[in-house]
Amino acid sequence: MNLELGEEQEAVRRLARDFVAREVTPHAVAWDRAESVDRGIVKKLGALGFLGLTVDEEYGGSGGDHLSYCLVTEELGRGDSSVRGIVSVSLGLVAKTIAAYGTEEQKRAWLPRLTTGDAVGCFGLTEPGTGSDAGNLATRAVRDGDTSGGDWLISGSKMFITNGTWADVVLLFARTNDTPGHRGVSAFLVPADAPGLTRREIHGKLGLRGQATAELVLDGVRVPDSAMLGPEGKGFSIAMSALAKGRMSVAAGCVGIAQAALDAAVAYAGEREQFGRPIAHYQLVQELLSDIAVDVDAARLLTWRVADLVDRGREFATAASKAKLFASEAAVRAANNALQVFGGYGYIDEYPVGKLLRDARVMTLYEGTSQIQKLIIGRALTGVSAF
Ligand code: FAD
Repeated sequence: MNLELGEEQEAVRRLARDFVAREVTPHAVAWDRAESVDRGIVKKLGALGFLGLTVDEEYGGSGGDHLSYCLVTEELGRGDSSVRGIVSVSLGLVAKTIAAYGTEEQKRAWLPRLTTGDAVGCFGLTEPGTGSDAGNLATRAVRDGDTSGGDWLISGSKMFITNGTWADVVLLFARTNDTPGHRGVSAFLVPADAPGLTRREIHGKLGLRGQATAELVLDGVRVPDSAMLGPEGKGFSIAMSALAKGRMSVAAGCVGIAQAALDAAVAYAGEREQFGRPIAHYQLVQELLSDIAVDVDAARLLTWRVADLVDRGREFATAASKAKLFASEAAVRAANNALQVFGGYGYIDEYPVGKLLRDARVMTLYEGTSQIQKLIIGRALTGVSAF
């Protein structure tokens, strides 16, 4: 793995860094307090190609490799995890999955809109009763009549759906036959304005407050057979393959959080004086800073390794779980250590580290909790599924 970035990768990182400095960081605290990111950010992300990375230009994408995608999600995560999540879900979980599994008609219908920011996607897997055990989901899709090729009627509910109230299309997972567990699950592309689909925004989150997280309720939502993504009964494996790559972008976002924590803590340690000297002079403060710095480097290297494996067409799922596990725990540690460096000032939201800690906390929960990542890694090591 080459650790030197190429010219194009450097350019895309600079573009993302400048964009974040101009369009994200200055607003992040206000969006957090208002519990809403400015929706105009989506078109701006689309205009720079950030919603089309790795997707073919033929479908409106901006191409590029997965390392570039990680560089952009790191920079966005450094500025505001709520904004990073818009890209990770609309592009990472939805557009990329349509690109991988969609029919020509599905790709033409959705990709040019998603990659430009004309439309937003959300990923509907989790339900009130099934989170880690997603393969046991209860939302059902039944044929209207018993003719194959006819419409499907979908009923059920989905919980904690990122971009839920903003989305134009839901990549929705529903049970299409009575086979128990994940074998009966299929994937559908459901227009978010379909009659019978209602959405309720979830408030009171610890972090990611600017992000639209929603509960979706489906009551006999009618979709044509052509809305099914991939083969019938293969929905769960489609969801798992989407999440494996998704974990790479979550990990990259976590590197961004940890880097932001480091930058803020180093700067503060140089300015804040106690006992007549900047606190950077004290060994115990330097220990906090060096712990953050090692976490940043280790998380970034694990994340870049996944991007490298994906770009070379190699098996990457276990490496993605390792990166997501380490980077998410590292982001929490880093933000917490940074808050310690800030002392009491870290506890109020005039300084960035409290928000970094709140935003980091969910990273060990979504796209598979830390415990689930350990079970995936353990299964790869032993050949035994301990789920
Ligand atoms: P549970 O599965 O109930 O887990 C509770 C605890 O039990 C955890 O500690 C877990 O690790 C542990 N546990 C469970 N099973 C095992 C086991 N076999 N062995 C050991 N420990 C176990 N979902 C979507 O589909 N789309 C989204 O866009 C989305 N966005 C989200 C955004 C936010 C802000 C949040 C909070 C969640 C989001 N989620 C989304 C849902 C998220 O993926 C789930 O919350 C997560 O998978 C965990 O499920 P759960 O909350 O039901 O916890």
